[in-house]
Amino acid sequence: MEPRLGNPRKTIEIIQKYQFVFRKQFGQNFLIDTHVLDKIIAAADVTKDDTVLEIGPGIGTMTQALAEAAGRVVAVEIDDNLIPILAETLADYDNITVIHDDILKVDIRELAAEYNGGRPIKVVANLPYYITTPIIMGLLEGDAPIDNITVMVQREVAERMQEAPGSKNYGALSLAVQYYAEPYLVANVPPNCFIPRPNVGSAVIRLKKYEAPPVKTTDPALMFRLIRASFNQRRKTLLNGLSHAADLPYTKEQIAAVIAEAGLDANVRGETLILAQFAALAELFCGQECEK
Ligand code: SAM
Repeated sequence: MEPRLGNPRKTIEIIQKYQFVFRKQFGQNFLIDTHVLDKIIAAADVTKDDTVLEIGPGIGTMTQALAEAAGRVVAVEIDDNLIPILAETLADYDNITVIHDDILKVDIRELAAEYNGGRPIKVVANLPYYITTPIIMGLLEGDAPIDNITVMVQREVAERMQEAPGSKNYGALSLAVQYYAEPYLVANVPPNCFIPRPNVGSAVIRLKKYEAPPVKTTDPALMFRLIRASFNQRRKTLLNGLSHAADLPYTKEQIAAVIAEAGLDANVRGETLILAQFAALAELFCGQECEK
């Protein structure tokens, strides 16, 4: 078998052989550090019983390592130019399926049904940074069976996912991640672990999905509307933020009454609230209606 691609010399050889041109619009920064690869796979807790979805296999560096650890790997790649390269670099593996598609258009629930009999899959990726949030939100909010998501993201985004009130990075993404999953920062990764080098720092984060969310809400969609309205206008009080939101039907008086009923100060700012407080507000807005 050829040496694994995590070896930088082998990666450069493949890139030169195919005269591959990196496409910035696809967020292409290929990993060239086997220690980082091994850390990602260990953190994802991949075993031979697992089916893994890899988003954006690139030239197949992580795909090879995943195929050695997992039962099956399904890798979704958008770039036409990488498909013939993957055919060569993954030729020695019989447990990999490459799907040539845009991950944002793939039905992950169907994919889990087809390749894992509907049982929970693990998601592992060195993500294209330009679509980190839609990918993560799609995986968390969708109804696909997922055990954990272990991904390389921009360091600042990894921090945002774990933030608590008081930090300038605390926001709708922090709350959404914390509603669906337990975040754990696996490692910070410097730019020299990739070619080409990204101009931002990176980090590997693992999101272990909860079986049940840590807070109770009858209407999670309403809770997320409240969260978005609060952070869309961070400098405003919660009362003003919610009363100016186009997708919330409540009058200013109703909102003021709910804020008081929740035991919050009339001038509280939304960015100071934790997930449990947004859940409690959503319950109060729901009132009788959501219990029907
Ligand atoms: N996994 C490889 C590695 O670690 O070396 C490549 C990672 S690179 C950061 C991101 C990969 O995602 C690229 O291969 C890129 O072409 C692919 N990609 C970008 N947008 C995509 C999309 N919408 N759907 C699927 N793959 C995408």
